Amino acid sequence: MDHFGFKQGEIYAEDLPVRTIAEAVGTPFYCYSTETLIRHYNVFSQAFSGHDFLLCYAVKANTNQAIIKTLADQGAGADVVSEGELRRALKAGIPPEKIVYSGVAKTKQEMQFALEQGIFQFNVESEPELHQLSTVASHMGKTAAIAFRINPDVDAKTHAKISTGKSENKFGIPLSHAREIYGIAAKLPGIRVQGVDLHIGSQLTDLAPFAEAFRRIATLVEDLRVDGHDISVIDLGGGLGIPYDRESSKPPLPTEYGQMAKRIIGHLGCKIIIEPGRLLVGNAGILVSRVIYVKQGENRKFLIIDAAMNDLVRPSMYDAYHEIVAVKENEGPASTYDIVGPVCETGDTFARDRDLPDLNSGDLVVIRSAGAYGAVMSSTYNTRRLIPEVLVKGGKYAIIRARPTYDDIIGLDELAEWQD
Ligand SMILES: *Cc1c(COP(=O)(O)O)cnc(C)c1O
Repeated sequence: MDHFGFKQGEIYAEDLPVRTIAEAVGTPFYCYSTETLIRHYNVFSQAFSGHDFLLCYAVKANTNQAIIKTLADQGAGADVVSEGELRRALKAGIPPEKIVYSGVAKTKQEMQFALEQGIFQFNVESEPELHQLSTVASHMGKTAAIAFRINPDVDAKTHAKISTGKSENKFGIPLSHAREIYGIAAKLPGIRVQGVDLHIGSQLTDLAPFAEAFRRIATLVEDLRVDGHDISVIDLGGGLGIPYDRESSKPPLPTEYGQMAKRIIGHLGCKIIIEPGRLLVGNAGILVSRVIYVKQGENRKFLIIDAAMNDLVRPSMYDAYHEIVAVKENEGPASTYDIVGPVCETGDTFARDRDLPDLNSGDLVVIRSAGAYGAVMSSTYNTRRLIPEVLVKGGKYAIIRARPTYDDIIGLDELAEWQD
């Protein structure tokens, strides 16, 4: 559920007409709803109530300081995958003891910074990385608390580019090598083994692959305890999907996910960590754009809008579906459109064959479910300026990232000294 609904014939963000924000801020822009973020956080924390539980928001889905802060104020920790994300999480007020550091190849420098901050856990993904962390930590006279990210070899049944838990993917330690590597880690200086971690992919719309992976992990925890390891943390990763197409897709609810997880791993008495990203922020954001031209092709009608693939890359990169609606409710005649941006490639297509009311230059449209992997993946391709991000709370809004000037972008370049 989100807080972008129709009231009095037009779309509102909470208590504000989207049109009002568009007139003040200019299009295109991202618009996020505070209420929706809080609601999604609460649904997860209720699903795991009664357990020693920490939600570590996977900040890569949306790293805006105001978004992280909104979730931090609810009690969220963070899952980070780079030093930059770690710095963002800390700056937004997430305490280091609520931060887990994931990622397939942390560098020496990144490890050092994270150890200085005193984060809760490193999720280690390979033996070379383990040795590197041991060396860095012992040089600093510190101990790194670790979990190994285990690759349980299950098919997440999601888009190939965001499936991470099959044996052919680059992620994690193969389940078959797990006991061996825990044995190695237990003997290394600067390392304290505390947990087991997994993350099998993103935008999963079925509980079965999660359940299978969690069962394999539960068995592993029992085996590791037999081997003498003190396992007190299970990190289940993220990946629960959202209904991009509300007509046809009904992914499992966080409540069902929580019940299933508790059933499979609850008896182990571990602290449970989850790392949702998309589910917290995806439906809490929309992209608001204005029609530039309506163009009649030979046999297709194009709605050319002022947002483009550089602002929201998911449709061209992952063939992702996004619901697109007109801001003004209109019962009049409808047309079938291909909705495209102004960038010079055919990949710059948001959707094909969508039925919308008849629209004209200047009309506003909303691309729904754009809060996750939207703004963070945007670029300045075609020297288009990054678009503003706006946060709404009740009847108020704030610009949480402003639109840069052209000088800001072009000024990043410098001529070589011999070109003067
Ligand atoms: C991307 C990622 C997540 C978040 O995935 P969502 O599908 O956005 O929930 C969590 N953990 C790790 C390790 C990730 O790489």
